[in-house]
Amino acid sequence: MAYTYDDQNIFAKILRGEIPNDTVLETEHTLAFRDIAPKAPEHVLVIPKGAYVALDHFCAEASDAEIVDFHRTVAEICKMTGASPGEGGEGYRGITNAGENGVQEVPHYHLHILAGRPLGPMLL
Ligand code: 5GP
Repeated sequence: MAYTYDDQNIFAKILRGEIPNDTVLETEHTLAFRDIAPKAPEHVLVIPKGAYVALDHFCAEASDAEIVDFHRTVAEICKMTGASPGEGGEGYRGITNAGENGVQEVPHYHLHILAGRPLGPMLL
């Protein structure tokens, strides 16, 4: 996969502890923290600790352990925010943007989890 990772991106700096963040959950391979400009009452960014630029990069090159850990963290965030319909919550939206057409601002793979209000047909 011909991705080049820019280790000066803002989430790389957060992972190195150079920039503070509002952590919701941290595991061996994954960090979940609050978006600095929330678009919903709950707006959590879930990122792998590894150097992956976008979803397809992560899916192609991350280890099974990283991929499982990431998605288990997503499940935990949905539970923690009370958004999971499976837990009686009112639902959420998971979004990832990639590249120019996806209008990706930060070139470190991240999944937005948005919840806490009706989200309408499109948000990001
Ligand atoms: P993208 O457009 O890349 O999918 O979304 C990047 C997200 O990162 C945006 O929602 C933006 O508000 C968030 N963001 C940008 N800089 C920071 C930061 O320094 N800290 C946090 N917590 N979120 C950030």
